[in-house]
Amino acid sequence: MKKSFIRFPMLTLAASALLLAACGNDAEEKKTTESEQTTTEKTTEDNTATEKPVEEKPAKEEVERDAGGYIIDQEPATEVKKVDGVVIANKRFPMPGDYAPGESADARAAFNELNKAAQQAGYTFNAFSTYRSYDRQTELYNNYVAKDGQEAADRYSARPGFSEHQTGLAFDIGETSNPNDYASNRFGKTEAGKWLAEHAHDYGFIMRYPDGKEEITGYMYESWHFRYVGKDIATEIYNNDSTLEEYLGVEG
Ligand SMILES: [Zn+2]
Repeated sequence: MKKSFIRFPMLTLAASALLLAACGNDAEEKKTTESEQTTTEKTTEDNTATEKPVEEKPAKEEVERDAGGYIIDQEPATEVKKVDGVVIANKRFPMPGDYAPGESADARAAFNELNKAAQQAGYTFNAFSTYRSYDRQTELYNNYVAKDGQEAADRYSARPGFSEHQTGLAFDIGETSNPNDYASNRFGKTEAGKWLAEHAHDYGFIMRYPDGKEEITGYMYESWHFRYVGKDIATEIYNNDSTLEEYLGVEG
């Protein structure tokens, strides 16, 4: 695998080489015949992202990362990273294999409230993938690597310990009547997807990987992947057009 040295957060790699899909993703599991199509679409969207000039900022830390954006020879995590009580899971902060909180009851309750409001507006949502265990992610990832090779698998599946779904706080959301758009950025272009993007924070969810924030989150745009953080934090992040990394002041 090609190795690149990056002085974080000056991410100078081409976005297409760096950004990975975080979900990894259960929709493909459910629609295996569409997995190739989904991957291709993501790649295409990824490549259309314009490269912006990167501002020079003082490096917080020097870490060596591989082409997938993962830190080379990173020690396995011994505990989950929390900042002010908020769980953060990304390429910089993986989770231990035995971190297995299950689906968050608070997140599920908030999702149910969100769905009630959505139905008033004419949309019904399905959280088609929420909690995934480390072992489940290992199984998924290894299957993808066997099928497509690691480089390709890294583009659409998180490595074990790195999927936010292991926190139990990540909800992949789609419209119940439109499963063909599950785990696809077609969803973000639908009326339902737009409604969700504008209202999720009122119920404590943020769009975790917004368009244009790839260099901060480390992941490409995912219009379907939402993270429960509670209403106050979600509203602040939404109002500031920000990300969880920026809010917590941590690396992606
Ligand atoms: Zn997801």
